[in-house]
Amino acid sequence: MTDFTTTRSLFHLPDGIIYLDGNSLGPLPKAASQRVAGMMADEWGTMLIRGWNEAGWMSLPRRIGDRIGRLIGAPEGHVVMGDTLSIKVYQALASALDIVHERDASRRVILSDSGNFPSDLYMAEGLIRTLDRDYELKVVAPEDVEAAIDERVAATLLTEVDYRTGRLHDMKALTAKAHAMGALTVWDLAHSAGAIPVDLSGADADFAVGCTYKYLNGGPGAPAFIYVSPQWADRARPALSGWLGHEQPFAFDQSYRPGQGIDRMRVGTPPILALAALDAALDAWEGVDLGEIRRQSIALCDLFIAEVEGRCKDLVLGSPREGARRGSQVSFLHDEGYAIMQALIARGVIGDFRAPNAIRFGFTPLYIGKEDVLAAVDILSDIVKNRLWDQPQFKKKALVT
Ligand SMILES: *Cc1c(COP(=O)(O)O)cnc(C)c1O
Repeated sequence: MTDFTTTRSLFHLPDGIIYLDGNSLGPLPKAASQRVAGMMADEWGTMLIRGWNEAGWMSLPRRIGDRIGRLIGAPEGHVVMGDTLSIKVYQALASALDIVHERDASRRVILSDSGNFPSDLYMAEGLIRTLDRDYELKVVAPEDVEAAIDERVAATLLTEVDYRTGRLHDMKALTAKAHAMGALTVWDLAHSAGAIPVDLSGADADFAVGCTYKYLNGGPGAPAFIYVSPQWADRARPALSGWLGHEQPFAFDQSYRPGQGIDRMRVGTPPILALAALDAALDAWEGVDLGEIRRQSIALCDLFIAEVEGRCKDLVLGSPREGARRGSQVSFLHDEGYAIMQALIARGVIGDFRAPNAIRFGFTPLYIGKEDVLAAVDILSDIVKNRLWDQPQFKKKALVT
């Protein structure tokens, strides 16, 4: 049984704030500040360039990849860190398409759904233009994905947990269907890693990608991860052939030869300060049972839904009601959702808003408990019942919502 009071004490949680946005940016782990400060003084400051060898900077992307691999059911040596999620989506999709193209050049469809995060769709559009192979990006409703996987599909590009609604895809079933139809799968775990148990090996997923600044608490702009299944690790052809993905970066050859396995998914110089913060953030997961996190998260979300529906009649649930069909977040819909969220934030309850009308709340058992949920609903119901959101300062749109 995980003791969540202990994990809560690992985070810097400002007084007077109830933080229900760890699904978008995890809070600061105390160990991360210390690690980064120590790294600057003892490694960068003292070792200078020798740090690449002496402090093991160059192997950090693989070492941290393995730590994340343990949270997502990936075997050792098949996850590597680097770049941002959008770039990893591009790399994974390009590799999947290449593998399928070699064995069946007639497949033209990249299948995604309308709940996918726009950047994933934009990256697919950009890749299609670059490849010039007449690919079609087919975007269907999330509930129609399974039926849309047919023999024209080259690859599926799906985010397991919908960023706006929290709706959870059945990774295992959809992957099995894709394979039965001869397609490969690219899974985006942005809202899965650290939120729910993931079993990439058990699902037989081909490629997976994700970010580390959401439930993994790596900090704003923390590097992304990419997984390539053992079956494809030495066959994937990296679309972004940077020097650190080369078989021998320091041979400085004139032409590119892909490195061994997952190493070929590296591109350029890794962000060592950000990786140091992430490495420290991942300590919070040591000894934590993700099954227990999942049970707690469902309980917190269920409690939140019941309390909000009981006390805020104007809000409409925008997430699946059944815990097993949701990730670790809950959305409610209201035409004035933006103003409601700004009013909430002004009272110390931080969630976020996703256009056109969703107020979104993430529930992260590592540091959020039942008392936080109840206190947040007290404030939310006050704001909704008394129309406290109906003020000009809450309606002015900021750059980041
Ligand atoms: C958060 C998120 C992103 C963001 O990508 P970045 O390149 O890290 O900005 C992309 N896709 C999904 C599904 C996300 O949830």
